Amino acid sequence: MDAYNVVVVGSGPNGLAAAVTLARAGLGVLVLEAETEAGGGARTQALPGSDTGLLHDTCSAVHPMALASPFFREFDLAARGVELVEPEVQFAHPLDHGEAGLAYRDAARTAAGLGVDSDAWLGLVGRLSEHPDAVVSAGLGDRRSIPGEMLSSVAGFVATARFGLGVLEQGTPLWGRRFRGEVAPALLTGVAAHAIAPLPTLSAAGTALMLATLAHSHGWPLPRGGSGAITAALVADLLAHGGELRTGVRVASTADLPSARAYVFDTTPRAAADILGARLPGTAERALRRFRYGNAAAKVDFVLSGPVPWANDGVSRAGTVHLGGSRPQLVEAERAVAAGRHAEHPVTLVSDPALLDPGREIGGLRPLWTYAHVPAGSTVDPTEAVTTQIERFAPGFRDVVVSAHPTTASRMSEHDANYVGGDIAAGSVTMWQMFARPTPYPDPWATGAPGAYLCSASTPPGPGVHGLGGYFAARQVLQREFGTRTMPSLAPERG
Ligand SMILES: Cc1cc2nc3c(=O)[nH]c(=O)nc-3n(C[C@H](O)[C@H](O)[C@H](O)COP(=O)(O)OP(=O)(O)OC[C@H]3O[C@@H](n4cnc5c(N)ncnc54)[C@H](O)[C@@H]3O)c2cc1C
Repeated sequence: MDAYNVVVVGSGPNGLAAAVTLARAGLGVLVLEAETEAGGGARTQALPGSDTGLLHDTCSAVHPMALASPFFREFDLAARGVELVEPEVQFAHPLDHGEAGLAYRDAARTAAGLGVDSDAWLGLVGRLSEHPDAVVSAGLGDRRSIPGEMLSSVAGFVATARFGLGVLEQGTPLWGRRFRGEVAPALLTGVAAHAIAPLPTLSAAGTALMLATLAHSHGWPLPRGGSGAITAALVADLLAHGGELRTGVRVASTADLPSARAYVFDTTPRAAADILGARLPGTAERALRRFRYGNAAAKVDFVLSGPVPWANDGVSRAGTVHLGGSRPQLVEAERAVAAGRHAEHPVTLVSDPALLDPGREIGGLRPLWTYAHVPAGSTVDPTEAVTTQIERFAPGFRDVVVSAHPTTASRMSEHDANYVGGDIAAGSVTMWQMFARPTPYPDPWATGAPGAYLCSASTPPGPGVHGLGGYFAARQVLQREFGTRTMPSLAPERG
């Protein structure tokens, strides 16, 4: 008799999504987490050694995918008291001469600020945001079946095809033909840079068009209190359905695992191969070990005495700010990173949660979340590069900095083993690896070892807090190990 039906290794959003789904199907589920706190990339914590009382998002901060994800839509974060607060400006991209691209929820309002490229934005991102379900079904699908919206109606087919054509256009040297000005291409390229990949590439274009569409259709919100609120809701549901969570347990080999019918790994493929060892057939092991990690991010958590003094007023109202200047400057910076060099002006992401959530401010102090793109495994302290980049668009920034707390790329895995060398996407975001993630096999969640599955962001649909890797893996576990094709309801119980 097994101790559990399923043991999940790792409690990131995907591990917890798998655990919640399996527990709701009536199975006995245990989650083992290496860190002292659950959540992986969705944790909100005090900085080590800090006595300000401020809470910082350890990894993710901004959550368009949590709003759009079919898993979280059914799970219904709002009904569980998680308030996703939407900024007036979803994301902003300042340029050197004081201009800025501002993405509002309303595509027409966004386009109105883009001058000569107003129609170009509406014709690309505006059109896609008229059918966001098609974009979500293609961008957050399982990469093994035809996106559902494509088959649902003629309009769905056309919208999915339009997304594909947009990716072909913005992911190739053709990308310059659409735009005539400087602001709109920079605004879109700042989103493409989330892939931390050379530009233009198809994978970065897919990332850009999906996330930009979500800005107009769903929004780019921040959870009140920080990303840990999402984790707390998942853990509460797991426990309410009989699941167990043990933190501070790092699984290094099968000897660390209690007996169970199935195991689900919220780890990278190579880590799963290390743990499974001889249980993996040789070909399966080789396939998992071929998985490639990508470029990196290095983080700086700031404590500020006031808001960032952005030169452009619109940028001050944005939930997320992309820094790096014009499209050619962004291309140059990402090219340097891909070549293993530190960019002189690295692409940098910034979010000031207290702007939307005054409770994040304590005694006049506020946290600022930032990270910069750097070569994989970088040991360079990013504080000066990030500070200089922010100061470039917000003169006087240094005056509001009370303290800066860097995490180099090389140390990112110390608080989450999945971010090897600072690869926050848990695998390089190339077009090949977006589809053949983690392997090219028909079932991307099966490891090849009996009863052992992967569910992390290294599986489809890839990085982001959407829980779908976990949900898709749970679907496979239920079908193959427990013979059930009926997925449980994820909706909160009323009353
Ligand atoms: C700096 C940073 C910023 C980000 N910003 C955003 C953002 O704004 N929005 C967004 O949507 N996404 C963002 N992401 C990405 C997002 O956080 C991840 O894609 C997401 O958390 C992946 O979820 P996961 O469950 O696959 O893995 P993770 O969240 O990484 O969780 C994996 C868990 O498994 C545990 N684990 C690993 N190995 C073992 C082991 N051997 N034994 C036991 N436990 C183990 C880890 O400790 C961890 O808790 C960001 C990531 C980082 C690092």
